[in-house]
Amino acid sequence: MSRAYNFSAGPATLPEPVLRQAQAEMLEWNGAGASIVEISHRGPEFMQVAREAEADLRTLMSIPDDYAVLFLAGGATTQQALMALNFAAPGQAADYVVTGHWGKTALKQARPYVDARIAADGEAGGFRDIPPRYDWRLTAGAAYVHYTANETIHGVEFRDVPDVGEAPLFADFSSSIAAEPLDVSRFGLIYAGAQKNLGPVGVTVVIVRRDLLERAGQPRADIFNYASHAASDSMLNTPPTWNWYLAGLVFKWMLAEGGVAEFARRNARKSALLYDTIDGSGGFYRNEVAVAARSRMNVPFFLHDPALDATFLKESASAGLISLKGHRVLGGMRASIYNTMPEAGVQALAAFMRDFQARFG
Ligand SMILES: *Cc1c(COP(=O)(O)O)cnc(C)c1O
Repeated sequence: MSRAYNFSAGPATLPEPVLRQAQAEMLEWNGAGASIVEISHRGPEFMQVAREAEADLRTLMSIPDDYAVLFLAGGATTQQALMALNFAAPGQAADYVVTGHWGKTALKQARPYVDARIAADGEAGGFRDIPPRYDWRLTAGAAYVHYTANETIHGVEFRDVPDVGEAPLFADFSSSIAAEPLDVSRFGLIYAGAQKNLGPVGVTVVIVRRDLLERAGQPRADIFNYASHAASDSMLNTPPTWNWYLAGLVFKWMLAEGGVAEFARRNARKSALLYDTIDGSGGFYRNEVAVAARSRMNVPFFLHDPALDATFLKESASAGLISLKGHRVLGGMRASIYNTMPEAGVQALAAFMRDFQARFG
């Protein structure tokens, strides 16, 4: 068996120890006589897994007690619609800061339910920078302000939590959750599909300030009601037990590796190495994002001559570096280097890029 370094943007690479443990427990979990995915979500075995996953995530991210933590199905995109239904009154305004593809998606999902306002939009500049805070047009009385902490496709990341005044701040952290220490108390709601930085696709983490759950929102079915999910410990219906379990193993692995502060240091080193390789290539490679807004999680880059793209992809795959093809929206290449990407993987990619340039430059 030979596992490559996998730069996929999502579903993304998982830590090998986690996969090995899941493999070992696949036929029987901990003396249960069955695997964890074959038993009731309400039985003591899965309840223990669920409780530990929540406790471990609370420890990892220092989540205050006045925040509920939900483990839901439906992906990040579903939450983008649900947050409008749950937290905005009919016709109420909500502000959207659009810094890339996912910010646009969030706006689109909310539009049927709220008076969605674009507070700032980076599209005119090709989403290569974050519109400066002093240019944002925030609406008085907005239900919330939404932004995308890290734009997975455009490679644009907020370095600081923006100050938006009165309205609660809602943030899509799908591709950067737990990548560095975060003051959760600055937010009304944080959500993240797990398949980038936390584990397997199929479970989405929602961290929401409990007082917001008392908002009336809009008429909706119980299954679309965050307060009901919180009241039933995310077991309003059958939760994605396998995904929840696997995410829990990732949380334990992260804690054992030194927690979020340690991953922040690794992520800084990994992204610096990659950007230095690109910037030091004399134009052979280029990244077009403003330096201060460059993502530490997703590094899109282009070869000076697109005719070399196919060769680059073929040779990198042969060298054990896979999934480097850029998103179709941008083209070129993209290296996703989440928490789960080892430093040795980024070092191997940087070495390959220098070698490729030496041969084709
Ligand atoms: C992947 C991604 C999404 C979409 O997640 P789904 O789970 O596919 O709905 C939303 N926002 C960001 C920032 C993402 O990276």
